[in-house]
Amino acid sequence: MLFSPMSLAMTQEGSNPLFFGMGLLLGCVITTLIALFISRHGRQKYQKMLLRLKLAQKNSSMAEQAMQTLAIEQQDSQDLLEERVQERTLELNIALQELESANQELERKNVLDELTGLHNRRFYDQKIMAEYRRSRRNLTALSLVIIDIDNFKAVNDNYGHLAGDQCLIWVAKFIKQCLKRSADKAFRYGGEEFCLILPNTDEEGALLLAEQLRLQVSKQAFQFQGIDITITISCGTCTYQQEADIGVEQIFSGADKALYQAKHNGRNQTQQYKLTEQYQVD
Ligand code: GH3
Ligand code: MG
Ligand code: MG
Repeated sequence: MLFSPMSLAMTQEGSNPLFFGMGLLLGCVITTLIALFISRHGRQKYQKMLLRLKLAQKNSSMAEQAMQTLAIEQQDSQDLLEERVQERTLELNIALQELESANQELERKNVLDELTGLHNRRFYDQKIMAEYRRSRRNLTALSLVIIDIDNFKAVNDNYGHLAGDQCLIWVAKFIKQCLKRSADKAFRYGGEEFCLILPNTDEEGALLLAEQLRLQVSKQAFQFQGIDITITISCGTCTYQQEADIGVEQIFSGADKALYQAKHNGRNQTQQYKLTEQYQVD
């Protein structure tokens, strides 16, 4: 048989109020005990959950801190990398510039005569061919002037090789000055021999320019260690005007023959060789 304070109170309801009151009290005590048990159990559960929550919060803040540290380190290493890349790029650019200027210097040296600063023989060979082709294409005259210092050996013999070198520089200065057009080019062909390539220039123009140069040189004395040394030059010119069977070698040979004639005739003068006529040199 099921016995409970309530059933006891219910069964004896109306007959005994004392029993009813005790049953009610017992019911309240049991209910309170159950409530206490539930609330204690709940509090423990709540505290456990709170603990877990705190742990999770701690973990999450630690993870957040770690993420921040990682982000800072990442940023630092990226900055360092960018800095290094910039440094290397700068170094590379400097190296490239140095290489470029070295190349330019090499190119310059390749076409220039070191002593006089005029173009060298190597460049003459390229230039004369290019101008010859241009002259044929455009049907324009092309003149060549060969210049040779008279009795240059005597300068070396009397005043020394250094005086000879200075004399070459001195003559080269007049040669540079006599060129008026940008297309005109001057070369040290070898030793004390120079030549001028004068595109679009006829016989008359070439003779005029050579004579102006010769007069300029003869008018002034070359000074070496306070001594005045008289220097003269001889010139030979040849002008190409699309004559048949004439190549660059014949043009040069013509100017050389004219120079020979100038030397033969007593030096300090200009002679012309005409490609159309047979030039007699005795
Ligand atoms: P010419 O009037 O017939 O031309 O007589 P020249 O004495 O000028 O000619 P020659 O060919 O007899 O002598 C040229 C001299 O030029 C000989 C050579 O030692 C000298 N020479 C060549 N190149 C150089 C150079 O770079 N420096 C110096 N100082 N002398 C040079
Ligand atoms: Mg000479
Ligand atoms: Mg000579």
